[in-house]
Order: sequence, then C-alpha cells, then structure tokens
Amino acid sequence: MALSGRGLPRAALERSGGPQGNPAFDALRRRLYLHICAVGIGVELAIWGLNEGKEVPDLVTRSASPVLLAVTCGIWLWLRAGRSIATVERLGVAVCTVMILARLLTLPLLDPRHILYSLEDLYWLLVAMSFVNFVVFDYRRAIAASALMYLLAVTLPWAVLESTGFTEGLRLAQMQLLCGMVMLFSCILAWYREHFILMRDRAELSERLANTDALTGLSNRHALYPQLEALLRQRTKLQETHPSALLLLDIDHFKRVNDRFGHNTGDEVLRTVAQVLRSELREPSLLGRWGGEEFLIGLPETGSDGALAVAERLRQAVGTHNFAGVGRLTISLGVAVCQRGDSSASCVARADAALYQAKQRGRNQTVVAGAREPVDREKTGLEASGPSGRRAGW
Ligand code: GH3
Ligand code: MG
Ligand code: MG
Repeated sequence: MALSGRGLPRAALERSGGPQGNPAFDALRRRLYLHICAVGIGVELAIWGLNEGKEVPDLVTRSASPVLLAVTCGIWLWLRAGRSIATVERLGVAVCTVMILARLLTLPLLDPRHILYSLEDLYWLLVAMSFVNFVVFDYRRAIAASALMYLLAVTLPWAVLESTGFTEGLRLAQMQLLCGMVMLFSCILAWYREHFILMRDRAELSERLANTDALTGLSNRHALYPQLEALLRQRTKLQETHPSALLLLDIDHFKRVNDRFGHNTGDEVLRTVAQVLRSELREPSLLGRWGGEEFLIGLPETGSDGALAVAERLRQAVGTHNFAGVGRLTISLGVAVCQRGDSSASCVARADAALYQAKQRGRNQTVVAGAREPVDREKTGLEASGPSGRRAGW
C-alpha cells in the first residue's frame, strides 16, 4: 500500500491513532468512570435531599432519584468487577435520554411556577449529555445525537406547554439559546480536536516514514544527517576531551549473497545485521542504514581507541553470527574521529575513505581514518575468516 502524507487512509489512521481498544486507555477510562460514579452518588443524594426539602418537591426528581442512585451504584459495581465499559457508556447515554424525555413529557404535570426550574435542569442535563456523547461516540455520531436531542428539547416544551398557560416564553427562549450556544461550542471543539489529532497523526506518520528505513526499521540517511550534526555540536560544547567518532560499516561481498541466495535472503541478512548492531550498541549511540549494505554508527564522547574497540566488537559480533541459510559473513569498517571544524559530511567522508582502505587491504577489518601506517595488528579471534582488525598508527 502506497502511503503519502495526504493520501493516508483515514480509517487506518483512526484505527492506529485512536485510543479505543488500547488496554492502557481502557484502564484509564474505567478509573475515570469509577470516580465519576462515586462523585455522582454523592451529588444524586444531595439533589434528592434538597428536592425533598422544597416546599413543593419536583415530581420528576422525586421519582428519578432512587432509580438513578440504584443505576449509578450498579454501574460502579459493574465497573469494579472489570466488566464491559462499552455497556456502561451506552447505558449512560440511554439513561440521560430517558431522563430528558421524561422531563419534557411531564412538564404539563408540574406546578406552573416550577416549570422554568425544571426546564433549567433539563438544559443543563442536555449540555452534560452532549459531553457524554463525545466521550462515547465518534464525533459525527455524537454531533448527530446531540443535535437530535437539542431539537427535541427546544420544540417539545413549546408544544406541551401551549395548553398550560405558561407565560415565561421569553426566558425559555433565552435558556434554549444559551444551551444551544454551549452545545454548538462543544461540537466545534470536538470537530477541531478530531481534525487536529488526525492531522498530527498524519504528520507523525509521514515523518516516521520519511526518516525510517523500511527494511531494517533503522534511521535512514535523511534522518541521520541532523542527528550527526547534533553529535558534532555536542562535541563542540564539550571541547577536545570529549570527541565523537563515526563508524561506517559495509558488509563484505554482499552482492554474492544476493546472487547466490536471492534478493529476499539478502534482505533478511540486512535485517539481521541491523538487529545484531542494535543489540551491541547502547544509547546514546547513533545507528542508521546509510544505504545499500552500509550502516553508519555515531559514538558520542568517544576517542579513536574507544571507537576502534566498538568497531572490533561489532565486527566480531557480525562475523560470529550464523545467518540463516547463508552462514558466516564478514564486515569492514572505517572509523573517523570528528575534529574541530568538521561537518557531518567531512567526518563521514573520512570514515568512508577509511572504509575504502579496509576493503583495499583485504576486507574483514577496521581502519581508523587519519592513520599513517599500521603500527600493530591485533588479532581479534577471527583469524579463520580473514585478517583481523588493524589499528592504524597516528
Ligand atoms: P564489497 O565487499 O566491496 O562491499 O562488495 P559488495 O558485493 O558487498 O558490494 P557491491 O557494492 O558490489 O554490492 C552491493 C550489493 O548490495 C549490490 C546491491 O544489489 C545490494 N543491495 C543494496 N541494497 C540492497 C537491499 O536493500 N536488499 C538487497 N537484498 N540487496 C541490496
Ligand atoms: Mg559491501
Ligand atoms: Mg557498499
């Protein structure tokens, strides 16, 4: 599947980026709902008590409070038992919907003096429900559900109150307008959040694809340059005592692997070499695929001795690995210690020249750039597969 920044499939992004179905997010939601239930139980008890203290208690509140308390306690126990969160969310939406409809349809039964208070409760409930909708549904369905409930809550009171002699139409219209504005604002926020998340995910995915080598999962050359520049800047700050070193690594006679075992096996070898290198290197070393069968390694705060030791360790690790279906392979390495005034390009060029020398000298060895003539040759236990690492004199 071809992927580009603009052409990324929306569904795939929503699936990968969306937190739903993510165990950590589910655990967080469960904890959040448990807290909301606990607070809700207290609030419902208070509302029930306050309503009973009124001169003329609200009928809907009186009959709904014990039911709501029982449902909230049930939900709390359900969640504590680790059961389905989706069921709770749907039940929450259903309960809110029933409450709103019950409030609307029982308006004519109320004392006309209390109708406005009841409607005030109803519009608060509607605002709360629109927030619940955005938590439970995707934003399109949430907007549709909220808009439907709002339409009902705006039109039904005028219809059911027509015959009751209700005289506070102006105040009712004000409340409806305010509720509509808050709900519209929540819809805009949800829309913005949705698109912001989608755009951010697209940008992150595009950046990851642009900076990552698809075969090995390592940084590619494009991503390595800024990392190398950062490595050099760090060196400038820490002065001469903390140089940085670059290693350029090339698999020997890799073309033969492709020719003899096929391109797919060649790919598998590249992936395995990347794994071996990854397992040998520790943070904050840099590792990336420079291209083809070449890898680049950046070693912060490492002088030539240290870099040579790391290079030999890598050479040994790859050289002793048994590549499935292929057997043993060797690598050659060029090492350059970055000097004052070096750019990433000049330092890589010296590592490349050292690598070229290593190839010229017979492969399966390390050459340190800036070397004059080799002063000693250390055996590293790979005699059987070719000449061992050469430590150049400088
Ligand atoms: P040397 O020891 O001099 O480095 O010889 P070599 O055969 O390793 O080098 P050469 O440059 O002649 O060949 C490199 C080969 O790497 C040729 C190319 O087809 C192969 N190659 C480059 N990228 C990939 C890749 O992604 N997958 C596979 N399977 N092969 C690749
Ligand atoms: Mg090669
Ligand atoms: Mg090469």
